[in-house]
Amino acid sequence: MSLDSIDRVAVLGAGNMGHGITEVTAMAGYDVTMRDIKDEFVDDGYEQIAWSLEKLEEKELIDESADEVLSRIDTTTDLEAAVSDADLVIEAAPENLELKHDIFTDLEEFCSEDTLLATNTSSLPITDIAEPVDTADRVLGLHFFNPPVKMDLVEVIYGEETSDEAAQAGYEWVESIGKTPIYVRKDVRGFVVNTIVGPFGGEPAWMVSEGEATIREADATMVHERGYPMGPFELGDLTGIDVGYHVRKESGAPIPPITEEKVENDELGQKTGKGFYDYEDGDGADYGPDDAGDFDWLRVEARMINRAAFLVGDDVATPEEVDTGVQLGLGFPEGICRRADKIGLDEVLEKLETLEEETGSERFEPHPYLEELVEDGKTGEDAGAGFYEYDTDEGGLDSYHNLNADLDDGVLRVELDRPTRMNALNAELLEELDDLFSTVDTDEVRCATIEGAGDRAFCAGADVTSFAGADPTELMEVTPTFETINEFERPVVAKIDGFCLGGGLELALSCDLRLATERSEFGAPEINLGLIPGGGGTQRLMRVLGETRAKELVFRGEHIDAERAQEWGLINRAVDREEFDDLVEEWVDDLAGGPPIGLKVAKKVMNEGQDASLDAAIAMESQGFGLLSSTDDVMEGAMAFAEDRDPEFEGK
Ligand code: NAD
Repeated sequence: MSLDSIDRVAVLGAGNMGHGITEVTAMAGYDVTMRDIKDEFVDDGYEQIAWSLEKLEEKELIDESADEVLSRIDTTTDLEAAVSDADLVIEAAPENLELKHDIFTDLEEFCSEDTLLATNTSSLPITDIAEPVDTADRVLGLHFFNPPVKMDLVEVIYGEETSDEAAQAGYEWVESIGKTPIYVRKDVRGFVVNTIVGPFGGEPAWMVSEGEATIREADATMVHERGYPMGPFELGDLTGIDVGYHVRKESGAPIPPITEEKVENDELGQKTGKGFYDYEDGDGADYGPDDAGDFDWLRVEARMINRAAFLVGDDVATPEEVDTGVQLGLGFPEGICRRADKIGLDEVLEKLETLEEETGSERFEPHPYLEELVEDGKTGEDAGAGFYEYDTDEGGLDSYHNLNADLDDGVLRVELDRPTRMNALNAELLEELDDLFSTVDTDEVRCATIEGAGDRAFCAGADVTSFAGADPTELMEVTPTFETINEFERPVVAKIDGFCLGGGLELALSCDLRLATERSEFGAPEINLGLIPGGGGTQRLMRVLGETRAKELVFRGEHIDAERAQEWGLINRAVDREEFDDLVEEWVDDLAGGPPIGLKVAKKVMNEGQDASLDAAIAMESQGFGLLSSTDDVMEGAMAFAEDRDPEFEGK
């Protein structure tokens, strides 16, 4: 079997997942055939793809037209026609083992023997699905998340027979469509992501059932103090309480009484109008920060960490894979292994042991791998090792978790790397930015750029959830980082594509120059939370925009588009997305090729001069001018001018 080239893809099923997988496959440039059992199902799926692509085109999130992408999609109800010349088949038919067996039996008959056969199942073992296939080494799981267009994660799952070659081909194909794959090396129930999320909903349900917590307390604490995007009960209502119930039932796990009761009463969540919250006569999930209290969050996180220990200890996934999985698949604010290392694995183990003793429940039985780590003294970040190894030596550009930094040829490129949170600023990211700009060797840097990872935002603001539990005075801690960037001795360019809001706007304002794509949006929405910009925003906006416009932005809290931002002078240029990288490179070239000392003095005199009297500022300028006139760079600039060549400044 050779799997080196995948050109044609077939997707079986045009439902929720099938049409989404078809869409992302075509967006990546593949020819794809989508098959369902009836014309109306196929047409329905196709229409949904067309609608979604139009939206993406409108928002400039695709580089070509919706029609061009659609032209790569064929539809059919004929299975043989769909798969006979496909290099990869992805089955996304209903979750029913018998049906999947029928499909895979047909696939073995109709496909060439080189075809990679994948299933998108969320809960059936890959090994069971592959059973009717003689060449089961080419069958694997490609588990997309709903909706595939928005969700970046794909679990690449080994069945018992799956070959490394097949898994690797699947993994590389996932990368080629711009998604993030993680390997799931053993066919465990729930794969990686659902293995971890189980206790997130389950444990709070036990605690409420046992009268140890309330629903609102649990949701509020997990969201407002621990940073999860949704409370466990709110999430249960959204996905359907019966869904979690059936998963538990099938796996033979005991079911918390409150869950049992809801299912018996047909109160299944949003879809029935009532679940843990009331969506018809009540206000839905109406908990707020004040409801957070004594909820024992560690009990929930300790169980998730214990599951992570099982996945890592049994070689199902690496800590990095588990963490990528929960961040991209569940929107967790940080990886569960990383969080475990911060809490301290000894503390986690102790919590589990205490609960096991108190309750006698095997839910809390610590996994041997967790015990082993603690026995070996690998208790987490403070100890220098836990799930991860920590470099206790001095940093280095690759030692950051929330940002990527690269220094090449005098250009320091910084990427805020929290795409699942639209690069929102949390305390750790701010600390890392501060550390980077304070410690990088400025002799090696001619110019810096800051941008956001992912394709939605430069930075959508402060991560409100990560501050919610903090003392109000700690909220102000954004300012030192912005000052460090503002005072950095080299020009800093904000490279803005997407949302630039709140703390993100303040970060951009602390840079010297701001370049943006036309689709970007700007705003200071703090007032809508009853707050004001707290990272220098009010003052920098007054200086950059003047009172009239600054007050409009701060008082109204509305967004403005890039065109208006340019007209107002909030940004230097706004261009089409296609031209953006070229524009930025042109500016970066100019800045990196400019005289380092000249730029440093210009930045200092211009920044500090604004806050001095005109006389004092002019005196500062003359002093700077005097200082520069004796530098080698000025000699070089004058000679190059006389010789009609480009100067080569050395910063001397
Ligand atoms: P769905 O019911 O929305 O779609 C399934 C489609 O498959 C239907 O249109 C149905 O007509 C079609 N179908 C039935 N028999 C078929 C056959 N023999 N050949 C081709 N198509 C056939 O279901 P879904 O939510 O898209 O789920 C599909 C698969 O993806 C399931 O295995 C599910 O576990 C998995 N999954 C679902 C989600 C999710 O959130 N919905 C997430 C990840 C994985």
